[in-house]
Amino acid sequence: MTNTGGYEERDVVVRLTDVRKDFGDHAALDGVSLDIGAGESVAVMGQSGSGKSTLLNMVSGLDRPTGGSVVVGGEDLAALDEKGLALFRRRRIGMIFQFFNLLDDLPALDNVALAGQLVGLKASAARKRALELMGDLGIADRRNIYPSSLSGGERQRVATARALMNRPSLLLADEPTGALDSRSGDQVMRLLTDLNRLGQTLVIVTHDPRLAAQCARRVVEVADGRIARDSSANGAPAAEVAR
Ligand code: ADP
Ligand code: MG
Repeated sequence: MTNTGGYEERDVVVRLTDVRKDFGDHAALDGVSLDIGAGESVAVMGQSGSGKSTLLNMVSGLDRPTGGSVVVGGEDLAALDEKGLALFRRRRIGMIFQFFNLLDDLPALDNVALAGQLVGLKASAARKRALELMGDLGIADRRNIYPSSLSGGERQRVATARALMNRPSLLLADEPTGALDSRSGDQVMRLLTDLNRLGQTLVIVTHDPRLAAQCARRVVEVADGRIARDSSANGAPAAEVAR
């Protein structure tokens, strides 16, 4: 069996190989290679403008690389057309953003359930699962509230429930605590950490070293579109590499 970089092939959830992304003559990503294994929690850190969001957008298929290859869950994203990519995102990837990206004209429950309906779940089944998830995340009592009346922490929990709706292979979070006060931020981080403990593969962009240390066993630092440091090039916990 092939064993690349310490992983069995079947355990690789994300494989970026020499990924490049140019915007005009600026290289946002300048040759990034990175494997992420099933069940890992990875914090992506780096200064503003270093390429963190671009990196996440390559993995989620929100944007396409200029060069190199992106394989997620065994799927080569280059082989998918726009419709295929959209389907891939909805079914396989959960995404959480700094500013929640909830639909303001839908109550919390419908924001969550919609993600299921978009992949073909019946409304009743989607609402049932949405309510279970909201219960798990401690926001079931907020189900009929519109996003504008929710606190920031509650909004991010709704967004997290939505991201988990279709049991994604991979949960991607881009500065999920960036718009939250420190207490709500800590709660959301704890939530993500708990999800990872339950086996959810997690990639989280943050520029807060404290949060990175709290939630991730592996830290990848991006600088000028390159990986400047990877606490565990073979997926071992950061603490073991440091020893
Ligand atoms: P980070 O998330 O680390 O702050 P980004 O990945 O958003 O950084 O951006 C990396 C670089 O690419 C920055 O110089 C940014 O200005 C540039 N960039 C990102 N997205 C675009 C875009 N859609 N068009 C042009 N330049 C972009
Ligand atoms: Mg960013």
